[in-house]
Amino acid sequence: MTAYTDFQNHIAEINDLCCVINLLTWDGRTQMPPGGATTRGNQLATVTRIAQERFTSDETGRLIDAAEAEVASETPDSYRVRAITQAREAYDIARRVPTDLMTAIAELKTISQQTWAEAKAANDFPRFAPYLAKMLDLQRRMADAIGFAEHPYDALLLRYEPGMTASRLRTLFETLKGGLLPLLQHIGARGNAAGGNVAGADFLDRAYPEEAQRAFALEIAGKFGYDLNRGRLDRSAHPFEISFTRNDVRITTRYNRRFMPAAVFGTLHETGHALYEQGVDPALTRSALTTDLLDLYAVGGASYGTHESQSRLWENLVGRSRSFWDLHFPRLREFFPEQLADVSAEEFYRAVNRVRPSLIRVEADELTYNFHIMLRVEIEMALLEGSLKVADLPEAWAAAMQSTLGLTPPDDARGVLQDIHWSSGLFGSFCTYTVGNVMSAQFFAAAKRALPGLEDYLAAGEYAPLLGWLTENIYRHGRAFSPEELLQRATGSGLTVEPYLAYLREKFTDLFP
Ligand code: ZN
Repeated sequence: MTAYTDFQNHIAEINDLCCVINLLTWDGRTQMPPGGATTRGNQLATVTRIAQERFTSDETGRLIDAAEAEVASETPDSYRVRAITQAREAYDIARRVPTDLMTAIAELKTISQQTWAEAKAANDFPRFAPYLAKMLDLQRRMADAIGFAEHPYDALLLRYEPGMTASRLRTLFETLKGGLLPLLQHIGARGNAAGGNVAGADFLDRAYPEEAQRAFALEIAGKFGYDLNRGRLDRSAHPFEISFTRNDVRITTRYNRRFMPAAVFGTLHETGHALYEQGVDPALTRSALTTDLLDLYAVGGASYGTHESQSRLWENLVGRSRSFWDLHFPRLREFFPEQLADVSAEEFYRAVNRVRPSLIRVEADELTYNFHIMLRVEIEMALLEGSLKVADLPEAWAAAMQSTLGLTPPDDARGVLQDIHWSSGLFGSFCTYTVGNVMSAQFFAAAKRALPGLEDYLAAGEYAPLLGWLTENIYRHGRAFSPEELLQRATGSGLTVEPYLAYLREKFTDLFP
């Protein structure tokens, strides 16, 4: 056996453990009876610890050293070289983080999430505050252990968006705000003048049976190219996608009888994630290029943001377009003949693209969504710097909501307590939603340039050309390239806001002239 094969076999076993972790997670969120929660926590902790010990062992270091020497003369873009580089980077970081810190975060996470849920239900921020302060302290220790040049946030971003930094994010946000605010003001004024741009959308609030919602959404997922021989759709409280190699990529959605778009767009969103995972080169199965070795997760994407770019591309750029509903609305009406009898395709298209500043991130439209993210990221940075105290969070949140979206949260449950992320220690992950939005428009614009007639294919419901381009340029590479490298190779430029702003301007000035 060669040194590379030894290395690959070692990583393959760690990938198997990660798939087991994912499978236990999927089961816990879709099938497990509530009584299983405590012992499931034990099972997850045990398998995670075994995977961690395996990966951070001296043996892994020796295998990486030997494999590195063996591939030293190979082209730097080869999957073998990239797999070793990925493993090396993750290994060096993982070895810098003390075991007691990892244990402290894992232990705090369980109680912190539970307290957050109680605090949110009781609208009682002070109850959650001490846990958030503890979590923040551990995140600072984590940033110190990993190391950073400029800002502690940079160290935390490594886990989610390699190459991204606090300073790059600040520049990105400035440009984004500069483009979005005038557009929002324009639409806000137009909407108000017309009695609000939500007028006429009350047909979304009729009773839509779940089974028909599921059948329609799954039919579209199949048309996009989601392979049900290697996938399935289940129900969960919060929609997600999860995979155990490219051969088993599952998605979930939730149903709201009174608001059918939640399940339909939720399913299309998760389908985008799933197409990414199903499209990874089979040769990368069980390798370092389909394993997040830092967080011990079996996943094939370059970064959280890159993954999110694909969910949003299929959900929004394809699924929320006029041509999409011109084509598929008649089929939707076959599923809901009474509910949609008096509705046209154009009315439906407008209803699912209404713009309305709201308090809740997950209910936000395409235009206001990024403000929810920018607010959270700026707060995270300030908390890490120490310029904002946990006790002052609700006030800072309300001020930021007021200055950006013109809204004041009536309580903390609909303000600072609305998301689970901070209680879980996911500091640094929020930005990837906006990075994903920005990237989605870059990739889509590049696909249009590469495929003349793409708009016509999409209007005819032919999704194979788009899926083919995305697979060739993004999906098949798994984690082989950094987000910036992928963007450069596929679009000819690094992360840039312009294509995203151009997309939003064109779409929303057409909707609201
Ligand atoms: Zn997503």
